[in-house]
Amino acid sequence: MGNTVQPLRSPFANADLVACLLTSLPDFYCLASAILTSKAVYNVFRRHPHSIVRAVAYNLVGPALPQALRLVRCQNAQLYSRPVDELLGDDDIENNPAFSRRDTRSLVAVSNTVQELENLFSLRMKNRRFKTSQLSLAESTRFQKAMYRLTLFSAIYGIESSPLVEDDSDEELKLAVEEAQNLRKGFFNCFTTPELREIQRAEFFLRGILAGVTGHSPDSPTIVDWAVYSIYATPGDVLDLYNRATTLPMDIEWDDEVDQRFWVGFMRMPVASVLDDRKEPHLLPSDHKQPIVDEVIGEHDLCSQCKSDKGLELWGPSNWSYFRANPIFHAIPHLLKGHLSFNNANIDHFKSIVQMTSPEQLIEGLFEYKTLAYDTWDKEDWLCEQCLEKFMREHLHLWYVGQMIKQGCAIPENCWYGYNCRTQTHRLAHAKKLNHWCAPIRGDAPP
Ligand SMILES: [Zn+2]
Ligand SMILES: [Zn+2]
Repeated sequence: MGNTVQPLRSPFANADLVACLLTSLPDFYCLASAILTSKAVYNVFRRHPHSIVRAVAYNLVGPALPQALRLVRCQNAQLYSRPVDELLGDDDIENNPAFSRRDTRSLVAVSNTVQELENLFSLRMKNRRFKTSQLSLAESTRFQKAMYRLTLFSAIYGIESSPLVEDDSDEELKLAVEEAQNLRKGFFNCFTTPELREIQRAEFFLRGILAGVTGHSPDSPTIVDWAVYSIYATPGDVLDLYNRATTLPMDIEWDDEVDQRFWVGFMRMPVASVLDDRKEPHLLPSDHKQPIVDEVIGEHDLCSQCKSDKGLELWGPSNWSYFRANPIFHAIPHLLKGHLSFNNANIDHFKSIVQMTSPEQLIEGLFEYKTLAYDTWDKEDWLCEQCLEKFMREHLHLWYVGQMIKQGCAIPENCWYGYNCRTQTHRLAHAKKLNHWCAPIRGDAPP
């Protein structure tokens, strides 16, 4: 018989062990696969379906499970515009512990999105060296709870809930807006002040992404109010925008006054009103310790080149991808040297190539054309925004010539005045005939 393993004799011990294993699975996909392995495993599952599904949901979502479940159940039940005491609460997980298929499907979708947002949040607010979340368990829980609460607010009181105003008389509209504002305040009033600060921080973070990728100011009403009202209910939309998988319906056609009165101050006003009642400032001072992150890693790291203390504002290979949410990334043609941004022949081609290139490909690519003056600059350097901008200015035109060569384009002879040539801006034939994406070799450019 030698070393063969004897199966456990007691069916009870086996069943307990299997049940225990099932509750430790990380997600529903693993659970489904495990259940399908044998009838015996399936039977164990059938004896404790709710506790096993709940345990796997916890493994998947983490300690913010009650907030995530509250969100998906309220959303699925379409409890739009209900007063907060008519919504399901964080305790719904205890009141209705059996998870429906719809619950689990929605939980999987929303928790994946929130996890991806946490990765970005961590890269931006905690540790710029890692693309996956480096938040501690406590920090991660605070972030996720805040995200689920913000999403719930947007889902229940935002665009989906737009009340039908039967007649659009001023009085009727005023009453409807007032009612909506009371509902929104009631929602936020249920949170402690630290919880409100966490929601504000999560919102500030999402707003930074939206502003960055759309080129709006983070303080513009479009971003401040419209985004919370219309977008946060589906946080996956923020990720899609970030990943350029979609464009933002931000150029609002909602200049209609009726709509505007509903979304202006959508989150800002009720939160401010709750904080006023508590005699708390509307926003924490900017030097206040972050409400979600306890400790920032590399908070006082220096720029590899100019040695300025920039911490999280430094850029390196691990966070180049986040550069897509930086205003400089949207102003790249303006960084071109001389008069290149007005070059008649190639500027549109340059812009289209930049548009097709991710920030990480672009910055890495610039290092391939490094000039002698930048010999000591390394791809692995951590650069502040000013140094990175300077590096981009000096190399974008060389990179572009490289891209044209890669595309098989013939590069004409260089114009003596290179990027400083003014003729390239008003004589198409000249702009086409000579290459201007090079340094001048003659003094002053002709007018
Ligand atoms: Zn620097
Ligand atoms: Zn020229």
